[in-house]
Amino acid sequence: MAEKATALKAVRNVSNWIGGEVRDTKSGRYGDVHDSATGKLCARVGLSDEADVEAAVGAAQAAFASWSKTPVMRRARIMFRLKELIERDRAEIAALITQEHGKVLHDADGSIQRGLEIVEFACGIPHLQKGEFSEQVGTGVDTYSMRQPLGVCVGITPFNFPAMVPLWMFPLAIACGNAFVLKPSEKDPGCSMKWAELLHEAGLPPGVFNVVQGDHVAVNSLLNDKRIAAVSFVGSTAVAEHVYRTASANGKRVQALGGAKNHLVVMPDADMDQAADALLGAGYGSAGERCMAISAIVTVGNSAEPLLEKLLPKIAALKVGPGSDNNNDMGPLITAEHRDKVRSYIDLGEKEGAKLLVDGRKHAITRSPGYFLGPTLFDHATPDMRIYKEEIFGPVLTMTRVDSFDDAVRLINDHQYGNGTAIFTRDGDSAREFADNIKVGMVGINVPIPVPLAFHSFGGWKRSVFGDMGMYGMEGVRFYTQLKTVTSRWPAGIRAGADFSMPTM
Ligand code: NAD
Repeated sequence: MAEKATALKAVRNVSNWIGGEVRDTKSGRYGDVHDSATGKLCARVGLSDEADVEAAVGAAQAAFASWSKTPVMRRARIMFRLKELIERDRAEIAALITQEHGKVLHDADGSIQRGLEIVEFACGIPHLQKGEFSEQVGTGVDTYSMRQPLGVCVGITPFNFPAMVPLWMFPLAIACGNAFVLKPSEKDPGCSMKWAELLHEAGLPPGVFNVVQGDHVAVNSLLNDKRIAAVSFVGSTAVAEHVYRTASANGKRVQALGGAKNHLVVMPDADMDQAADALLGAGYGSAGERCMAISAIVTVGNSAEPLLEKLLPKIAALKVGPGSDNNNDMGPLITAEHRDKVRSYIDLGEKEGAKLLVDGRKHAITRSPGYFLGPTLFDHATPDMRIYKEEIFGPVLTMTRVDSFDDAVRLINDHQYGNGTAIFTRDGDSAREFADNIKVGMVGINVPIPVPLAFHSFGGWKRSVFGDMGMYGMEGVRFYTQLKTVTSRWPAGIRAGADFSMPTM
């Protein structure tokens, strides 16, 4: 571990992985990756162009022919080996995430765990991909169905979960018999090469998994490539919509998950200590750079004051600092540009007239090098304010006060985003009504970040998603396979002569 941590300090070159080997990008364009806690250069990443994409998709297409015919138990065994290898190297992977992304080591490790669980789920592919059989649907006639792989599938992923989000996609895609091309975020590309190396070590044939590094040039080239069957995307809503429209217009199957504004409703009967703790972790964990982070508090009736009484001292006690120190609660933001964007929302909130209770711009940590911002809390945010309407994606919580439960539900249902939400209450009726009527894809009842486990599926509603199927779980298996149904009859059961009426059994 000490050796690996030291090795991370050198400036790395991050290239493509195509056909089972490292390949330098042909474009001659590079991006810089900085250690977000120090601002120092830690890696240079190649930015692929059409020729690089052409090579990766070509390798994937060539590998698909035999991989799609590989017996399902052999595909499952690769997943078992991958699971062991990720477990072996997880400390190294966590250190890589912490350096490039900034999240605290324990949080980085947790995100690996959530991704690993999808690999564990994919180990069950012989069962998950099983078809159905109906005997004697007519005299001498049987019907069976099977789920066959699609071909070359692509994953385009965001910066905030460089381990977990790719793991939402490629283990199931590959286990189902597809070939895969990953285009990770250019802001923290290190993990992608780790997946390639581990899959290779696990015995995956060359070309089944490929990585193209890059930015929008690589993405647009992938979206327009006629050989690609399906695209999984996770990122901001603006790009998700572009990816969905372009790829589906090109005849591809697409799932594109976008941005979020996740509300947490605090009812007057809630345990205020529990609600405050939940808000602290869900609002400021990973510096608010989570698509399921809580960013909008909704207090109902007279719950605002008792909540603030608990919440404000806890915010003051938050430990902000480098992610490499496991005692910290919150690390830096991903880049200087992103930190400045989040800071500009704090400026905006003041101008819009929200009451700034905690100002992260003034936190002592902002005097350190690195892309730090302290935790921030606005009270009296109203639905017309941009700080309420837009995704900020940083450690900024807004609080909106409403009179009743119905007002809270209406507020959330009227919001453009519908990724996650939560209610804190002791009342079963309110909780049930909330779960039933709220227009949001993932709902927590006294659970602030209700990310479904690997055997359920992940996905939001409204402008948080474009496309029909969620990520992982059975939705993932359905997304990465197409259904074929066979109806069969053998000569002994076939009557002589042609039949011109609609076949019935
Ligand atoms: P982003 O949209 O900027 O980038 C996502 C991917 O798209 C990256 O690989 C990037 O290289 C590529 N990309 C960026 N601009 C592009 C363009 N103009 N054309 C084509 N491709 C482009 O997102 P990000 O900043 O990396 O990630 C943060 C966003 O992701 C937030 O909005 C967050 O809510 C969202 N997110 C959503 C989920 C979810 O499950 N709904 C999960 C994680 C993150």
